[in-house]
Amino acid sequence: MSGSTLRAVKTVAIDVDSVLADVMLVWADEYNRRRNAKITKEDIIKWDIPTVLPITPEDVYEYFSHVWRNRWREIPPTEPDIGAVTRRIHRKGYRISIITKRERPTVAYVAKWLDMHRVFADDLLFIYDAAPKADYPFDVLIDDAPKNLVDVAEPKSAILFNQPWNRDFDWPVRVSSLSEAEKLL
Ligand SMILES: [Mg+2]
Repeated sequence: MSGSTLRAVKTVAIDVDSVLADVMLVWADEYNRRRNAKITKEDIIKWDIPTVLPITPEDVYEYFSHVWRNRWREIPPTEPDIGAVTRRIHRKGYRISIITKRERPTVAYVAKWLDMHRVFADDLLFIYDAAPKADYPFDVLIDDAPKNLVDVAEPKSAILFNQPWNRDFDWPVRVSSLSEAEKLL
């Protein structure tokens, strides 16, 4: 806001799964229902779920799709009133780009979820292929997946969103909530 200085608006890219939407809580419940098990999200200590649970990669995605398509209303935000946090980031002068890598059939439900929680977005980007998130236009990325952060290079930066599966990943800037990330912006 400083006088005559012309400054480009900065864009913050925010991930959906496990950054806005705490989807793995419901995924764990789905796993328990189908397999008569008692796991929690805290048991998912590796990104590659079949290395910590007896499940095939196909079933990991099938449960994930099922949860988004049929149980999306049950997916809680990672903190209460997450929409308000996104609106505050917007009011700070950031452009908000929601960037999510996913399979096509879950897209409509993700859009509904974002509306239900009144998440502010200047754009909404669904990536279907293997294009790295780091290639998309943003200044700061907030994501829980180490594989999305490793390619982020100056002048871009990234904030790791703490989840049980990224505790071993060495990254200097970590937060446990979006409102904590808001304070860093
Ligand atoms: Mg994620």
